[in-house]
Amino acid sequence: MRILREGSTGSDVMELQSVLRKMGYYGSTPDGAFGPDTARAVREFQTWRGLTADSVVGPATWNALHPFLLGYDVYAIRQGDTFFGVGQKYGTDPALIAAANPGRDPDRLMIGTRIIVPFSYDVVSTDTAYTYEVLTRNIQGLKARYPALMVGSAGFSVLGHTLFALRLGTGPTRVAYNASHHALEWITTPVLMKFAEDYLKSRALGKLLSGYDTRKLWTESSIWLVPMVNPDGVNLVINGLSPDNPYYSNLIRWNGGSTDFSGTWEANIRGVDLNHNYNAAWEQSKQEEATLGITGPGPTRYSGPYPVSEPETRAMVSFTRSRNIGLVMAYHSQGRVIYWNFMNLASPQAEEIGRALSRISGYALDEATGPASYAGYKDWFIQDFRRPGYTIEVGSGQNPLPLSQFPQIYAENLGMLLYAAQAT
Ligand SMILES: [Zn+2]
Repeated sequence: MRILREGSTGSDVMELQSVLRKMGYYGSTPDGAFGPDTARAVREFQTWRGLTADSVVGPATWNALHPFLLGYDVYAIRQGDTFFGVGQKYGTDPALIAAANPGRDPDRLMIGTRIIVPFSYDVVSTDTAYTYEVLTRNIQGLKARYPALMVGSAGFSVLGHTLFALRLGTGPTRVAYNASHHALEWITTPVLMKFAEDYLKSRALGKLLSGYDTRKLWTESSIWLVPMVNPDGVNLVINGLSPDNPYYSNLIRWNGGSTDFSGTWEANIRGVDLNHNYNAAWEQSKQEEATLGITGPGPTRYSGPYPVSEPETRAMVSFTRSRNIGLVMAYHSQGRVIYWNFMNLASPQAEEIGRALSRISGYALDEATGPASYAGYKDWFIQDFRRPGYTIEVGSGQNPLPLSQFPQIYAENLGMLLYAAQAT
C-alpha cells in the first residue's frame, strides 16, 4: 500500500476513511480526499496504537490498520476467558465469535489458544469505491469470520485477477448471481457482497433475514456469487490508467484518445464488452455494433473477435455449466428494470418468477430489444438451458451511480436475492 498523507487522493484514501469511520475516528462520508479531518482521525488512531502520531499512513500505520481492514482480530486466550467475556471486551456478539471458531468448546478454552474475534462492525464496505483490492480484503474477512462460507475461483481476468466465486449454502436448489460484467456498474459488487455478509450473519445469529429463515435456506439452496466478473475494468474506472498497464497506449486509443476512463469504460481491459461476448445471437450483436459505427475494441458494445473470446466470459460459461445452475441473476446498473426473456425462449415459469421479482423489488419487468438484447450472459443461459435467467438493472441515473444510492438499491434487491434462491 502506498504512503498516504494530507493532500493524497484516491480509492485507497477512501478505504482508509471508511475503516476509520467504522472504528469511530472519522465522522464524515468517505470522499477519497485526505484533508484535515482524515489527518486528525489518523492521529487519534496512531495514538491509540502507540505509533508516532504524525498523520502519515506509512508501513507501520498500514500494518496496524490491517486487522481492522479485514474486520477481525486474532486473540490469545487468557486465564478465565469465555466467548461471552471476550465478546464484551470487543463489543461483539458471542454467537459471532462461536461462528468464527467452529469446533472450539467455549467452556474449555485452553490458555494460549488463538481464536478469531470479529470486530463489532460489518466487514463489507458500502461507502467506498469497490476496487478488486477491497473485494479481496472483504472476502478474506468474511471467510475468517464465517468459515462456513465457501470461497473458490471461477477463473481469471485478462490481467490475472481472480474471478472469486463464493458459495452460500449446501442445498439442492442451485442458483448463481453475478455482478460487474460492466466496469462502470461496480456498485453491483457490494450489493452481492453485503448480501453474503447479511446472510452469513443472520445464519450465525439465528435471526430472520427479511423474513427468511437462513438456517433452513442454507440446507435447501446453494447460492453461488461471482461478485466481480470484470475486475480489470472496475479498477481502470476507479483508479485510472496506470503506466504499467500492458495495454496502456491501446487503451488510450480505444478510449478515443482520452486518459479519463471514469465515465466511459464498460469493457474488459482488451476493450471487449463482456456482456456482448456470449454465444447467443452473437452475429446479430456484431451487426448491431457495425450500425453503431463500432469496428474494434472500445469502451462499450464491442462484441469481440469471436464468441466467448475473453477469459472472463469463458470462465463464466464453464463455471455456470459445471454447476448445473437452475436460475441466474446478472447484476447491472441502471434503470430499475428486470429483463427476463431472450428470443422468446424463456418459459412461462420464468415469466412468473420475473413477475414476483418485480413485485418484491418495485422494478419494472421488461423484455430487452435492440443491441442490448444480444450476446449477454442471461441470453446465453436462457438459450442453452431454457431455465430462468434475469438481468437486473439497479438504481437510476448515470453510471457510475453514486454510492449515496447504495442503501436504497440494497433495500430493493435483498428480497429478490432471497426469493430467487428458492423460486425454482
Ligand atoms: Zn451493464
